[in-house]
Amino acid sequence: MPVSDDLTLQVANMRPQDAGASIARMSAASMTKIGIGEGDLVELIGRRHTAAIAMRPYEEDHGLNIIRLDGLQRVNAGASSGDHVEVRKAEARPATRVVLAPAQKNLVLQGSGEALQRTFLHLPMVAGDVVSTSVQQRVRDPRLLNLPAYGLQEIRLVVVSTQPRGIVQMTAETVVELRPQFEEPKEARRADVTYDDIGGLGSSVEQVREMVELPLRHPELFQRLGIDPPKGVLLYGPPGTGKTLLARAVANETEANFYHIAGPEIMGSRYGESEERLRQVFQEASQNAPSIIFIDEIDSIAPKREQVTGEVERRIVAQLLTLMDGLEPRQNIVVIGATNRRDAIDEALRRPGRFDREIVIGVPDQNGRREVLAIHTRGMPLAEDTDLDEIARTTFGFVGADLGALVREAAMDALRRILPDINLKEGIPTEVLEKLTVTQDDFTSALKR
Ligand code: ADP
Repeated sequence: MPVSDDLTLQVANMRPQDAGASIARMSAASMTKIGIGEGDLVELIGRRHTAAIAMRPYEEDHGLNIIRLDGLQRVNAGASSGDHVEVRKAEARPATRVVLAPAQKNLVLQGSGEALQRTFLHLPMVAGDVVSTSVQQRVRDPRLLNLPAYGLQEIRLVVVSTQPRGIVQMTAETVVELRPQFEEPKEARRADVTYDDIGGLGSSVEQVREMVELPLRHPELFQRLGIDPPKGVLLYGPPGTGKTLLARAVANETEANFYHIAGPEIMGSRYGESEERLRQVFQEASQNAPSIIFIDEIDSIAPKREQVTGEVERRIVAQLLTLMDGLEPRQNIVVIGATNRRDAIDEALRRPGRFDREIVIGVPDQNGRREVLAIHTRGMPLAEDTDLDEIARTTFGFVGADLGALVREAAMDALRRILPDINLKEGIPTEVLEKLTVTQDDFTSALKR
């Protein structure tokens, strides 16, 4: 078979444990077709372009025309799962200089670029990419922890610029400049949450994707079939199970604008204020469609009318009903409501054409907890003895938010252990940083609190 310049493959999701390593999994036939082998670089071209290291496929994918990418790579390539990307053989040039900045608005970093240079050593990157320090797990560079306060957590950075341009690879000679503040990437790439950041929800993620992603991305399918796409989806589940996370991830992965309404907060005091606010959000969302409107704790603004005592609630329910009914099927807006009380919301809201789809977001089981723990410890220097399986086994009843808090607590314990050895004015010596690992004991004592 002659080597061809390019190849089109369908994007599928990477397994979470492989995420963050800049690899793209594809079949041997695909690699042969573009004349590369395992470990070689490929350029991925969707609505944007990025680079990755080609790797062999998962067992079940042999012979399929798919390419597995993680959440950041999908963002960087401008392609969602199910889309097609062009895949080409690529060469990376050694970077002489790379400028990085936090990819999150609320994150300020003061570390040296030098530690990052070792973290991202040999990784391919393109200006505009969002990269994650979870690659650190592969290289385990303790110097990355020079980044104070966030050193124990995964950090996402935007590649602001590179010299030379195009696909580059960090080398031992690359000069890395770290800007302290968030920079809005030139082309808006939002990578704060992707599907890789959600663990233990099993088929609920697929259900949400089907109900929300499909109509937002392919409204023409629904038109062609002559059916109306869903306007409203209700997510039911206890607090902290990831409902907000999931809604954000769907918005990011479909490149839809995200509008967040916090139920209790919208209850204004002035007459008509809450309805006005709802109308505003719906109006903005339709001007900027495709959009997702997320109404958290919807039961607080739309409780059952027979239980309603306040005039305000009655008016808000009426307003929300009017707004939902006014949404045109072709407007490309999906409203997602979240509540932990299945029967607490007004039945009128659950009629056809309103919130007529329901998805249960449950408390994770042991496997689910293991997935969530793996996500929250990404980029964390875990000691050899840490046993995430054991922690998952002993945290019955914990939801995602509880597990996140547990991991943070354990990391704080690890930090406290080295504090006596540190003179904060002088910076942290490498030997001390190398000792900074989160141990099984840290988890056990965090659990007791
Ligand atoms: P909810 O909207 O269901 O109350 P959130 O989505 O606000 O819950 O979750 C709060 C935080 O808890 C998240 O930002 C995340 O750090 C963590 N979390 C919750 N659920 C999960 C999950 N399924 N996987 C990973 N992290 C989770």
